[in-house]
Formats: sequence, C-alpha cells, structure tokens
Amino acid sequence: MNQNNKPGPNNNQPQPNRWANMFNVFMVLFLIIFAINTLISTRPNTLKTEISYNAFMELVDRGYVQVVELNDTTISLTIKENVPAKSVLEVVDPNGRSTIESIANLQFVTGRIDNYDIVSYLDGKHLEGKVGDFKRPLANNQGTYMQILASWVVPVIALYLLYLFFFRSMAKRMGSDNSGMGFMGSVGKSRAKVYNVEKNVGVSFKDVAGQDEAKESLIEIVDYLHNPEKYHKVGAKQPKGALLVGPPGTGKTLMARALAGEAKVPFYHLTGSEFVELYVGVGASRVRDLFQTASKDAPCIIFIDEIDAIGKSRDNSLGSNDEREQTLNQLLAEMDGFDASKGVVVLAATNRPEVLDKALSRAGRFDRRIIVEKPDLPGRESILSVHASKVKIAKEVVLRDIALATSGATGADLANMINEAALRAVRLGRDEVIQEDLMEAVEVVIAGKEKKDRILNSKEKQLVAYHEVGHALVSALQKNSQPIQKITIVPRTMGSLGYTMSVPEEDRYLMTKDELLSQITTLLGGRAAELVQFSTITTGAANDIERATSIARSIVTIYGMSEKFGPMGLESTVSQYLDGRRVLMCSEVTGSEIDGEVRAILDACQAETIELLTKNKKRLDAISEFLLQRENITGDEFMELLNNTEEG
Ligand code: ADP
Ligand code: MG
Ligand code: ZN
Repeated sequence: MNQNNKPGPNNNQPQPNRWANMFNVFMVLFLIIFAINTLISTRPNTLKTEISYNAFMELVDRGYVQVVELNDTTISLTIKENVPAKSVLEVVDPNGRSTIESIANLQFVTGRIDNYDIVSYLDGKHLEGKVGDFKRPLANNQGTYMQILASWVVPVIALYLLYLFFFRSMAKRMGSDNSGMGFMGSVGKSRAKVYNVEKNVGVSFKDVAGQDEAKESLIEIVDYLHNPEKYHKVGAKQPKGALLVGPPGTGKTLMARALAGEAKVPFYHLTGSEFVELYVGVGASRVRDLFQTASKDAPCIIFIDEIDAIGKSRDNSLGSNDEREQTLNQLLAEMDGFDASKGVVVLAATNRPEVLDKALSRAGRFDRRIIVEKPDLPGRESILSVHASKVKIAKEVVLRDIALATSGATGADLANMINEAALRAVRLGRDEVIQEDLMEAVEVVIAGKEKKDRILNSKEKQLVAYHEVGHALVSALQKNSQPIQKITIVPRTMGSLGYTMSVPEEDRYLMTKDELLSQITTLLGGRAAELVQFSTITTGAANDIERATSIARSIVTIYGMSEKFGPMGLESTVSQYLDGRRVLMCSEVTGSEIDGEVRAILDACQAETIELLTKNKKRLDAISEFLLQRENITGDEFMELLNNTEEG
C-alpha cells in the first residue's frame, strides 16, 4: 500500500560511468609503467660526462664528433681522436670549471629532444663511424619489438591481473555484487543511484483522498505542465517550486507522486538525506547532475523528499556542516539558474518547515507553500474508502463509524488500519473484512502507539478495570464530555492495558475552557478510581498524567486562560508538525509561577474527580465488576448500567 519507495527504472546510465572508471584505471597503470621504464632507461652512465644539448649541437657543428648513438631518451657521442681535449672543453664547459682530466675519455651523453628530425640533421653532417646506426629510427627491428613487448605489454597484463585479483576480492568483502569493475565501479554506481526516475508513476489524484485544498494548488501546476502557452500568453510565470508541509504520514510523498501521474511527466524522486549520506563531497555534484538530467527531460517533476536534511538553516549554533551547506548552496544556485518556462517543477516535502533556511523559501525558489494537514472527519472517511476499495470488504461496513473513532489519525495510520483489518479477517478465516475487524484494527493502531505488550494477573486486571471505568464514569458524569463508545481491559498485543474509547460526535476545532478542564478531569479519573477503591496508586496512569499536565499547561501558557496570567502568551511551539515541542518565552521566575498554576489546575481537577467517584462508588463497583467479567463493554451497555445503578 505504501507507494513511495517503489524503485523506479533507473536509467541514469551507469554504463558510461563504468567505462570511465575502467579508463581511469588504465591511465594509472600506464603512468606507473611509464615511470618504471623511464627510471630504468635513465640509470646514470658512469663512464660518460653529461653535457647540455646545445653543447652537443656545437660539437657536431664543429665536426668534432665521430660516433653518435641514439637511444630512447639519450644521445651518446664519442669525439674524434684527433680533436684536442682543450677545444672540446671550450665547448662543453665554457665557464672553465672542469679540468681536462675529468673529460679525458671524451665520451659524452645528453638528453634526447625530439623537436625536429635529429636523424636527418646528423646525416647531413657526414659523421664518420656509426652513421648507419643513428639513421635508424627507434624500434625498427625484431629485437626492439621484443623489448617493447617485454617492457610495456607484459607489465600491463601483469598489473591488470593483480588489479583484478585485489579489487575483486575487496569488492566481494564489501558485499558488492557487481562483477568486473568491483570496488571502483561501485563508487560510480552508488552515485548514479541517488535519484529514481519514474516515467509513469501510476498514481493519480484520485488515489489521494481528502486534502482538497492541497490538491487544488497542485492542479494548477498540472495545468501548467499540460498547456504552458495558456500561461505564456498572459505573461504569467509558473512558480518554480512548491513546498509540501505537514506532519509525517499525511500523504505528502503520495501527493507529489500523484502530481507527476496526473501531469503524465517523469518523476525525479530523491530524499534529502541521501545527498549527505555516504560520500563526502558529492552532495553538490549530485544536485548539479540531477538538475542537468532533469532539464533535458522537461517537462518533468523533481521531488526532494525530506528536504530539511539539506535545507536546514545554515546559521545554527551547533557549528556548521560544510558538506550540507555546499549541497544547499548548490541547490539554491540550481533553483535560480533553471528556466521554469521549460516545464521543470521542483517539489519538496518536509515536516519541519521551521528549520528550513530562509533562502529556500524566498520568492523564486520554493515560493509556494502547500499545507498538508491531518485529515478531518470527511477526509478520514474518504481516505478509508480509498484504501477499503483495495481489500474485499463486507457490504454492511460503515466507514463513517471508523472515521469517527480515529480523530487525529493520519492517512498512513488509516491505510495501516485497513490492512490490519484485512489481516485479522484472514487470520479468522473470513474472506471479507467486517466492521469488527476494522474496530479491532483501530485499537491495534491507536492503542499500539502508546505502550508495550503485557499479560495481566488478576489483581492487575482488577486495577485496570477500575481505572478504565473511572475514566468512563467521570466522563459520563460531566456535562461537557464525549459519549463513551467502548471500554476494554483486553491488553493489546502491543498496546495499553486497558482502553476507554470516547468518540466525539463531530470534529472539534474550538474548545471552551470548561471542556478542557473536563478533559483533564476525565484523564485523572483512572488514577482517582484506583485511589477510591484500593487506596493505592499505580504506574498505569503515567500516560494520563502526561496528557492531563500538557492540557493544563496549554491552558496557562498558550491559550491564555488562567486567572493569574490572563491572556499572556508564555510558550511557543517549535516543531509544530512533529512532536510539537514548546519553548518558554518568559523569565525563570515566571516559569516557576507557571508550574504553580498548572499544579493548581491539576489539583482542583483531581479533587473534583475523586469527589465524583466517591459520590458514585456504587456505580463504579457495579460497572467495574461487569467489565471484569466481560472484558469488553459497549457504550450502550455502559449507559444502561449507569442509569440502572443509583447514585451513592
Ligand atoms: P508523508 O510523506 O506525508 O510522510 P506518505 O505520502 O508517505 O506520507 O503517506 C504514507 C501512506 O499513507 C501513503 O502511501 C498512503 O497509503 C497513505 N495516505 C496518506 N495520506 C493519504 C491520503 N490523503 N489518501 C490516501 N492515502 C493516504
Ligand atoms: Mg514522505
Ligand atoms: Zn488511564
């Protein structure tokens, strides 16, 4: 069901890379052999005095030279016997630093320069002696061929074999399966693998349920990719990039793919973290590559998922990350450089918009921000029906009920629930999914998000029963509360010990202070029931306490509802779309006063809930007993019991 990591056909030509590597390897081998050969042929010649090339030419011109021998890199010469040593010395050592003795054998050597045809030049000088020898160009007989064979071809083969042996075994050790080019090849390959291109994503907007506003903004981009002339005529420019912002699992990736599917253009997909992953220094070049390839393929869509991995603000206090900054700079440069009128649209997704570098979201880059929120009730219902259509589902299933019970779930959660329900149906030997499977799946997914799995002993079970009934009773006894749908003390495989599900009749966007307070009271009802019945408290209330405290704190610091501070904002949320972490915006003194205020709210709610439960002790007992026997009770059963048991 998760379509975002389907590997697309990877057509970024890994082949040329491979040949390029092969070529590099041969160049290195060639240089090594060349160096060895040079070393061998320039070994010092102890018998001959080295002179400059000019001196050599002078000697030839003056007719002093008897024999010249041309070697690969040197020229050796022997002076005629009748030439006085003094005249030779004049030529080879005009500054007169050498003595006659030092050149006594009159044998010289100089470096060979190939700037003109030395052979025919010397030929014209009518030298005596080995004239025929230097007429012969290098390597013109069998012996020389053999020499070249020995000094060049054999080492090349030997080194290549060595190379194969070493690098192949190295590649094997690294778990690489590409044969032949082994290690070197794999460096090139992983670079090529950074982005996936899908020519046809096979997902369209009808696969994205709800999210109508987000889809609307994207439809304009589709229209532009289809008929750009319409926009050119008016002179309207397509925004270069759009940033999808929202909590994890809300369908950002899905929507980007659907956009490509809808526009029927290639989809270049890569993830921000892949840029800064394995090889240092390649991020920037990857960005360049990507934009180059993509602009040849226009119209197309480039999608950078989780862009916060590279797009993090550059001036963070934790010191800089050069690699990431370079990559980001390259991205900024590419976004400025490419021509949007060609039909390249850059999309990016993030769930941490606040950490993004300001430069990324300025006009001309990701200038359009598309908010992808958690789905509301109709949204959840349509997401459920999109995914339900992929499984065999019974006719009597009412998806709206599931949608009602899943306030706050993301698209990914809902997709997961449908799948869990289908799995349960198979497990129980049914061939279609029924309502019960779905309700069960809701609990698996929602409750599974909270705690570890557990098996209860009977004492624990009693505690849990009272705890859950405590929540339900306190909730039912207050006027601002939500109706109970189900209470259970069957521990989930991976979930909480018990569970009280209350369902709002509709999605709520505004809450009154009273409603918030009654939420706190309800949350504290579990702990209070333990106190009232067993005069003891357990760790089972940890999650309730956390949530109650967080609501109480919000009342004081964010909603400005406390008497002490009035409408004063004391905290701000930083990662709105992730954990919603908050930071204090006040002095430390005020901070501790806030703590006091939060404490006061919690204390008041706790007192109220204990009072409520003490007053309704009989009801608490009756319902808890019933729950202990049945393990599950529905909302209707609960209300019946509540109404049939008198107060006290
Ligand atoms: P994000 O990228 O926002 O974290 P994804 O796009 O990866 O989320 O969504 C994960 C899965 O959740 C999708 O593959 C899809 O099955 C499901 N999903 C999320 N939102 C929707 C939606 N609006 N309609 C249908 N399915 C959705
Ligand atoms: Mg995603
Ligand atoms: Zn509880």
